[in-house]
Amino acid sequence: MKKIFLLLSILCIGYKSQAITVDYSLKMSKPQNHYFEVMMTLDELSGKNITIKMPVWSPGSYMIREFSKNINLVRAYDENANKLEINKTLKNTWVIKRNGAKQIRIKYEVYAFELSVRTSFLDATHGFINGSSIFMFVEGATESKGKVDIYPHEDFNTITTSLKKASDSIRYEGAKTYQYKNYDELIDSPIEIGNQEVFEFDAAGCKHTVALYGVGNYEISKLQSDMKKIVETTSKIIGVNPNKKYTFIIHNVNDGQGGLEHANSTTLSVSRWGYTGKEYNDFLSLVAHEYFHLWNVKRIRPIELGPFNYDQENYTSLLWVMEGFTSYYDELILRRAGYISEQEYLQKFNGTLNYLEASEGRKVQPVAHASFDAWIKGYRPNENSANTTMSYYSNGHILAALIDLKIIAKYNGERSLDDFMRILYRKFYLKENRGFTEKEFEETLSSFLKEDMSIFLNDHVYDTKVPDYKSIFENIGIKVELTLNKKNSFGASFDKSSEYPKVKYVRVNSKAEDAGINVNDEIIGINGYRVYSDNIDEAINAFKQNDKFTILVSRDGILFEINCENGIYEQPIYKLSTDFSSEKTNLISYWLRTVN
Ligand SMILES: [Zn+2]
Repeated sequence: MKKIFLLLSILCIGYKSQAITVDYSLKMSKPQNHYFEVMMTLDELSGKNITIKMPVWSPGSYMIREFSKNINLVRAYDENANKLEINKTLKNTWVIKRNGAKQIRIKYEVYAFELSVRTSFLDATHGFINGSSIFMFVEGATESKGKVDIYPHEDFNTITTSLKKASDSIRYEGAKTYQYKNYDELIDSPIEIGNQEVFEFDAAGCKHTVALYGVGNYEISKLQSDMKKIVETTSKIIGVNPNKKYTFIIHNVNDGQGGLEHANSTTLSVSRWGYTGKEYNDFLSLVAHEYFHLWNVKRIRPIELGPFNYDQENYTSLLWVMEGFTSYYDELILRRAGYISEQEYLQKFNGTLNYLEASEGRKVQPVAHASFDAWIKGYRPNENSANTTMSYYSNGHILAALIDLKIIAKYNGERSLDDFMRILYRKFYLKENRGFTEKEFEETLSSFLKEDMSIFLNDHVYDTKVPDYKSIFENIGIKVELTLNKKNSFGASFDKSSEYPKVKYVRVNSKAEDAGINVNDEIIGINGYRVYSDNIDEAINAFKQNDKFTILVSRDGILFEINCENGIYEQPIYKLSTDFSSEKTNLISYWLRTVN
């Protein structure tokens, strides 16, 4: 499989280089109807036909989203405004008969009513553009540069984007003109248009612009100083900040959904009242996470993630490094910046470790497979996912820590994972300007650690063996105790959102599974007594191991009784604590140091 995908990406590289220019204009004359009106102007054309395409996914979010579903009527005209023949040939592809035209104008509308960091949105209050869901590209010309003329609606007075302003940035009345150097850059630069609040700060040699859409309990001066601190701490990991300018677009919404990384910017969706207390640390760790991605995944990256194929899934087994390492760092950065204490950090880390090791999916899905199958499993969960899948974020987070601790122990507190990340950055991004293969990742790690890491990776990345936490942690002076928390358990959990409980999950190898309880079964009664959502847990939890009982269920409108027996569930609990008798406490201090 890997060879096939490598070949595909080589084909894509060879495929891009027709020297045409592609300019876009973007209007929003009636924002309340949620349509962006897009016009593409293609110049210096040759060949018989021109093929245009809409991406099916958005880099950074590994799911096919079929953005062409939101496009209305695509039309093409030559330089004399004559209509050209255009045919749709695939779900995301249109072919235009050029008919000798030197310039072609393509017009289409895009319905934008999904406010998320990966999609686009327009209403009377603002517009947000995630490029891959708005801008089509010309097949064979993704290396072409061009301009984008944005005509904000008259009620909108601010545009925020990391795209550079064109030198003739007011070439049309009512429009602001930006430029892009290739299609990847265009769609990697989200655009916020509206009346957002904007502030700036300088940090790590880079000018940062922050745009906030929506009300929230934030304080600009506090955000300014805290985001600066996070940016500076994050930049110290690699030691070099490659950007001169960076843009944060923040959507304050009812339920924040997280962020999406870009090379020179990020979009964050955060809870509008979450700028206080514990939730505020979650916000800062999201800032750290997306900011660290400007290196890890946008520059330090698997070979499969760029140049992108916008027509289909782009598979990689290394998302555990891209997302897992980034998740590891987003918490570590909070510690390094002094927002949490050593003990708080260890406690949080301990929680992630116990979550991972208690997961059923972790036993059957190696983290390399979780990465590869993000497209069909991680991003598309079903009722059985908890039995069969494990997040490459959490699993990768723990593996990043284990690799970090191995490095710290090996170099006696003078090197860490930071140094390994710097090697990846220099060797593959700066020197070769490309991503690395899995083999190259393994070789680079082995050579840095002066130890064959293939066994570690085979056991814990390509297989599901539980790592020897005890020895790895003890090497840096942290004690690990493992206990089994035994509790009575039936193995089903319930959706209690309505009056009558419905089964929403059946744990693999549980008594509920043995008895034949199905997800979606409505529970009517237990042992002849009526149960409701508010007493189902109490009723089930009253049973001890081996207790027998009957459950009356309604399944697809048929009532029947199921004979059940209660069981036992053993949950592994790891407890990490600083071993003050160890001579290695200096290594813990190095691991959990604050960085000034
Ligand atoms: Zn991420």
